[in-house]
Order: sequence, then structure tokens, then C-alpha cells
Amino acid sequence: MDHFDYVDGAMQVEQVPMAAIADAVGTPVYVYSTATLTRHVGVFRDALGSLHNPLIAFAVKANPNAAVLATLAKLGLGADVVSGGELLRAIAAGIPADRIVFSGVGKTAEEMRLALDHGIFQFNLESEPEAEMLSQVALSMGKRAPVAYRINPDVDAGTHAKISTGKSENKFGIPYARALESYAAARDLPGLDVQGVAVHIGSQLTDLAPLEAAFTKVGALIAALRDAGHDIRTADLGGGLGVPYNPALPEPPSPAAYGDMVCRVTQDWPVRLMFEPGRVIVGNAGALLSRVVRVKQGAKAPFVIVDAAMNDLLRPSLYDAWHDIRAVTPAGQRAAANVVGPVCETGDTFAMGRDMDVVAAGDLVAFMTAGAYGATMAGTYNSRPLTPEVLVSGDKWAVVRARPPIEALIAGDSIPDWLAD
Ligand SMILES: *Cc1c(COP(=O)(O)O)cnc(C)c1O
Repeated sequence: MDHFDYVDGAMQVEQVPMAAIADAVGTPVYVYSTATLTRHVGVFRDALGSLHNPLIAFAVKANPNAAVLATLAKLGLGADVVSGGELLRAIAAGIPADRIVFSGVGKTAEEMRLALDHGIFQFNLESEPEAEMLSQVALSMGKRAPVAYRINPDVDAGTHAKISTGKSENKFGIPYARALESYAAARDLPGLDVQGVAVHIGSQLTDLAPLEAAFTKVGALIAALRDAGHDIRTADLGGGLGVPYNPALPEPPSPAAYGDMVCRVTQDWPVRLMFEPGRVIVGNAGALLSRVVRVKQGAKAPFVIVDAAMNDLLRPSLYDAWHDIRAVTPAGQRAAANVVGPVCETGDTFAMGRDMDVVAAGDLVAFMTAGAYGATMAGTYNSRPLTPEVLVSGDKWAVVRARPPIEALIAGDSIPDWLAD
């Protein structure tokens, strides 16, 4: 459920007309709804209601905007970060370090030092060499780093190959079959305090079965580790729950169904559970608002050329992702159209042969469910400035990231003196 609704024939976000934002800020622009964010946090938390003190660490990479993070911080969420930059963003937004988890296969010594300095809750290690490096870094600072190993459970998440992370051939985690040896080696590293087990098998999961299979393996490993004398106190079950993108497809499992499964599978685990939801918190709390530049005849269907492009919303070209595309002021008719951006790449295509509202040059369209992995993946290809972002709350709204002038993009480069005369 979201708070993008039609009122008197025009789309509003909460109480603010989308057209008012487009007129004031220009297009393309990302628009986020505070009420939707708040609702999703509540739904996720309620779904885990029977667990004791779970740590819900929002996956910052899904949407790192400072205002979004500050909203989630006020709602009590922690953060799952995958870089020093994300760590600093989370802290700047008011997320306490003792609710921060550091994931990722390539943490550098510098990033480890930064996280140890801030005193984060847990490092999720992804390899034995990483464990050795973290131990050395921690010792050099006179500290012990709280760690879990991320297990690769060799489970097929059944999602797009580029967002599958839990198969043995993926780069993530330590092999399940070697986990006991890896933990034994970590216990001997004096700079580490081995406290947990972690797993994350992929994103946009539309079936609970692979998650349950992975969690069951984590449960068996926790028992084996405790038998081997490890004091395992946390289990991080990652993120990955899918959101509805295409209203014509069956809805992914609800957070409530996910929570029921988690409570059933983990009921005997003597640990604090942790979660790293990203998409399910922010996905449909955001839309990318764009204006139709022109409509051009196509072989089978017209090309609707919009002012948003793959640099603003990469998911369709990167993952063949499907976003619902709606007219902000629908005229009533629908027809097939190809929706494309202005970038000089055939991959700059949002939809082909899509049955959608008929739109004309100058009309506004909204790409729905664009709050996760949208603005955060934006770039400046074709010298297009980074997409601005707006946060709405009730009848209030604010630009939470301004559109940089093209001059700033040009000024970012410099010309060496042998070229300047
Ligand atoms: C991306 C990621 C998440 C969040 O995934 P969602 O599908 O957005 O919930 C959680 N944990 C890790 C380690 C990730 O890489």
C-alpha cells in the first residue's frame, strides 16, 4: 500500500499534487512519501512482533538520502551499510552506531578503522582473509571487533540472476560446508569477538521457500557452532523480501507471512535476531516523476520519449525490471506504447508495447515503486545532472536533494596545465 492516489483525476502524493512538485522543481524528480515509509516500518515491525528485541537495520544502499534515513532513524531503525560512505551517512542521519551492521565483500582496512572508531554493532565478514585483516586492524586500535560470518547457504533465491547472492557460485559469504573451520579459525584471532551468523540470499524474493531453506541451514549451523563451544548470540537474516511492481502479477509474500515463517523457524534459537530490509521499506514509498518530451511514431506502437532516462532509473536496463507507468492526469484512454528516455542507448528503454494511459507531449508520468534502488543508482551519463529528490509529509514537501546545475558537473573536471593556454 502506498500514498500515491488520484484525487479529482490527478495524482497526489499524500496531500500534495504531483504536478505542483513538477512545476516547482522540474522533471525528472524522485518523490518520496513519509506516510508510506512510516507505514512500511510499522508493518515490518508488527510482523516481527513476537520476537524479543529484534534489530531492524535498514539496507542503506536501497535509498541513502539523508532525509529518508533521518525519517527511518526517528522510527527507530538501525542501518545495514556496505561502505564507509554509507556508514557516515547513517551516522549523520542520526542512526546510533550500536544499531549499525557492516556488510560487503570488499571492506578496506580504512573502512574497518572507521567502523571500529564509531563502535558499530556488528561486522558481517565474508571471507577468512577479511577476518584476519579485521583482527589486525582491531588489535592495532586496542579493540575487539564484534563479528558474524555471512554464510553462503547455496540456495537458489529464484530471483533475477543479478540480484541472487546465495548460490555457491556467487561472490558472497563463506561456503556453508566450510563454516565450522572458518569459525574455528576466527575464534583464534585475538582482535575478533565472534558473536553471530548472517545470511542474505538475494533481493526481490517472491517466494518464502528459499528464505526458509536458508534460515533452516542457519539454525543447524548455530546449533553446531554452540556445540563446538562458540558463544553465538546474534543471527542476521538479511533482507530480500520482494515488493509488488506489476499489479497484474501475484503479490509477493506479505511481511506478516514472512514474520510468521521467521518466528516458526527460529523459535528455539537462543539468539537476538537481526534483519536488513531495504526494498520492502522504501520501494513503493517513492515514484520517479517525469514529463513527456514528445511522442514519435514507431513500427508497432508509438515511442513515448520522457525526460527521465536510464541514468535516473537504471533498474529496467540493468535487471529488465518492470515499473508501473501512470499518467499523473489520465485522459481516460489506454493504448500500447514504448516508453523510452533520451539517452543514446537502446537499453534506455523503460517499457515496450506497454498497455498504459495515452499521453501526449508535456504530460506528466510517474514511474511507480521507484523508492528503492532508484536515485541511489543514478549517474550522470550523457552529462545529465543527478536526479533531484523531494520528500512529502502530509501537505508539506521539501527538496531533499537539489538538482545540481550542469556547470557543477563541468566544474568537477579539470584541465591539466599542458592543455590550458
Ligand atoms: C542489498 C542487501 C540487503 C537489502 O536487500 P533488499 O532486497 O532491498 O531487502 C540486505 N542485506 C545485504 C547484505 C544486502 O546486500
